[in-house]
Amino acid sequence: MTQSHSYPHRPVTTQPAYDLIVVGAGGVGSAAAYHAARRGHRVLLLEQFTIGHTRGSSHGGSRIIRYTHDRLGDTAQMPATFALWRELEQLSGVALLQMTGGLYIGSMDEPWLRRSREALTALGFPFRLLSGDDLAAAYPQWRFAPDWVAVEQNDSGILAASTCVATLAAQAQRFGAQLREQTPVANITPDGDGVIVRTAAGETLRSDRAILAAGPWSSRFLRELVNFTVPLRVTHQQVAYFAARDVAAHSVGRFPLFIVTEAPHFYGFPIFERAGLVKVALEQSEVTVDPDGPRAVDSDLLDRLCALVAQHLPGLDPTPLHVETCLYTETPTREFVIDRHPDHAQIVIAAGFSGRGFKHTIAVGHLLVDLATHPAGDYALPFWQNSYALGRFAPKSAPTHTYDP
Ligand SMILES: Cc1cc2nc3c(=O)[nH]c(=O)nc-3n(C[C@H](O)[C@H](O)[C@H](O)COP(=O)(O)OP(=O)(O)OC[C@H]3O[C@@H](n4cnc5c(N)ncnc54)[C@H](O)[C@@H]3O)c2cc1C
Repeated sequence: MTQSHSYPHRPVTTQPAYDLIVVGAGGVGSAAAYHAARRGHRVLLLEQFTIGHTRGSSHGGSRIIRYTHDRLGDTAQMPATFALWRELEQLSGVALLQMTGGLYIGSMDEPWLRRSREALTALGFPFRLLSGDDLAAAYPQWRFAPDWVAVEQNDSGILAASTCVATLAAQAQRFGAQLREQTPVANITPDGDGVIVRTAAGETLRSDRAILAAGPWSSRFLRELVNFTVPLRVTHQQVAYFAARDVAAHSVGRFPLFIVTEAPHFYGFPIFERAGLVKVALEQSEVTVDPDGPRAVDSDLLDRLCALVAQHLPGLDPTPLHVETCLYTETPTREFVIDRHPDHAQIVIAAGFSGRGFKHTIAVGHLLVDLATHPAGDYALPFWQNSYALGRFAPKSAPTHTYDP
């Protein structure tokens, strides 16, 4: 995608004003705009609300970033992903990433924990497998279940999520991208080998390429763009902050971030964005919501979380002092959707980042720009996997010919 491309089918008056329009300025869209602008493309980033709004998936003070994954490809990608975040910190002068170490807790045979040990081992990344006795001795802040063990892995940390998004968007603008907030997009349609993006206000914008990064609102676009169903579920999530009775014992250095991989899945952080408070969340995928609907704290989910805190983290007061809500956009297997449109390669789709996408946004943005601007099949990151292809949801086509002896 360079300005020297010619589009002979299109009259001169409708030459695109942009090389790339990105729809949605959450973590994914802001990262795509940042990389595209850095590469010199003329970029327009459109956001229906404002940067940092709290109705989508990327707001809040903290997200986990880790080497420990049950997918080998994700673990393999992490050194490059950490480097991209560190590079953004250097470019911007803004602190984004705090290393904390991580504890990944479950029973010895729990599949996620087993696969993540296998991935770390296969790639030669160090970790310690702590027995129940080791855990009790090292982490008296916890009351572990009797059969729990843990993977202790130091390459784990916290991304300051809202600050990351604001920094990505600011750096995109610094490299020349235009950002338009309060600009809802009504639809994206192919136009020859370019794209027309219409805003809800009735404006028509033309671009060579578009990246759809609409998070929980993605289905609205996909229903029009793709002729099969992309099964995305938008689920309600909430996080709560609990006062630590011993602040030092729950601070970075003594209390690693944690994920309990056994059901019920819950995770948490050392004291980070709120003084004296530990953030803990119960992950669930039953409660689905309309992204435009009202947001309210789900008291049943909160009660379940408070009970887990009372049971396992006796150093916290189990009455939360603050609760925040957020949305996941989940695919059935939590594999992302990162792909060119099957029929219109100038439209690239990024969706379904589930509960694990934030750490990857900076690498996904890089990949999205590759997909939008490189020839088909030519992309730079090993992070790309066939399991992220949109076509996995297409009905299996009937064989087009039979064997005729
Ligand atoms: C509580 C919670 C905890 C999480 N914890 C972690 C974690 O620890 N580690 C991790 O890696 N990930 C985590 N995640 C997941 C991660 O945050 C998400 O996968 C990621 O933020 C998704 O980003 P996104 O850009 O796809 O979506 P969003 O951030 O929702 O961005 C989509 C944007 O598109 C905009 N948009 C939509 N429609 C339009 C339109 N028509 N016109 C213009 N703009 C539009 C929206 O307003 C929004 O700003 C967590 C998520 C939640 C909710």
